Amino acid sequence: MVDQQPDIKRLADGDEQEWGNVQAEFAGRLLRYISKRVQDHQVREDILQETFLGALRGIHSFNPTYSFEQYLFGICRNRTIDFLRRRTVRGLGGEEEDSVPALERLAVDEATPSQVFGVNDLGARGRDLLGRVLKAWVAETFAAEEWQRIKVVELLLAAEERNLHVAKELDIQDESAVAGIKFRALKRLATLAAAEDQTGKLRDEIVQAISGTHVGIDMAGVWTQSRASCPSRYWWARLAKGRCEPGMADYLEFHRDRIDCPLCQANYEDLKGASENLEPMVARLQASTIVFLRGKGGQG
Ligand SMILES: [Zn+2]
Repeated sequence: MVDQQPDIKRLADGDEQEWGNVQAEFAGRLLRYISKRVQDHQVREDILQETFLGALRGIHSFNPTYSFEQYLFGICRNRTIDFLRRRTVRGLGGEEEDSVPALERLAVDEATPSQVFGVNDLGARGRDLLGRVLKAWVAETFAAEEWQRIKVVELLLAAEERNLHVAKELDIQDESAVAGIKFRALKRLATLAAAEDQTGKLRDEIVQAISGTHVGIDMAGVWTQSRASCPSRYWWARLAKGRCEPGMADYLEFHRDRIDCPLCQANYEDLKGASENLEPMVARLQASTIVFLRGKGGQG
């Protein structure tokens, strides 16, 4: 389910061709993301260009725990927020009505690193570990095609809904059935955690979460941050072409619309509109990157 990763070493070495590939690959989905929040076409392209320049500058500190796509979207999100913020400060008139909600929406939509990091006692390593454990659980649940189970758990752990609400929303006869699914999922997560983590700390945290006595673990934040349940681009492409089994298609729509995942929305819309000609814009992006790379080389 994992998308192919670009060669980070080549990117860090300033390989023009690899950066060109990355721009051709990611420009469309990033543009979709920006377009939802920014109306002006020229500004959209500026933000996209700043995103890639930011990626170039930061590539040496790339954290391999996250995917390259997450890295790019993180920068893109910050650049978009910067723009909306500047516009809010500048525009004293009607513009605020439009840009303030957009900013607020960004703030609540997506857990930012500062929200995720430092709110619990698990530590950065523990959060990476939990992210891997959640991904492993999601992968085996996908493989078993247990769509209802993953929806229940995602609503409880990532969206932080209550048992009763989840039962009603998913048409499950009573909330004790939901509690049972949650209990079994957490037990399985504890087992997976024990296999990953020799210290046993994460397993203990999860066990405490089962008993409901301890909330030191930021499950929802880590779930979002690690994109634990984000289906790969391959699946979004299948959905866009109508070539998905009903169970998987239903889950994809749930994740995109109910969980309201902005990165997956951007991916899907990019694939839906794949016939649009982005080549001239990608060429401009590639040209600006080459200027940056050669300029940097020239300065030593
Ligand atoms: Zn997603």
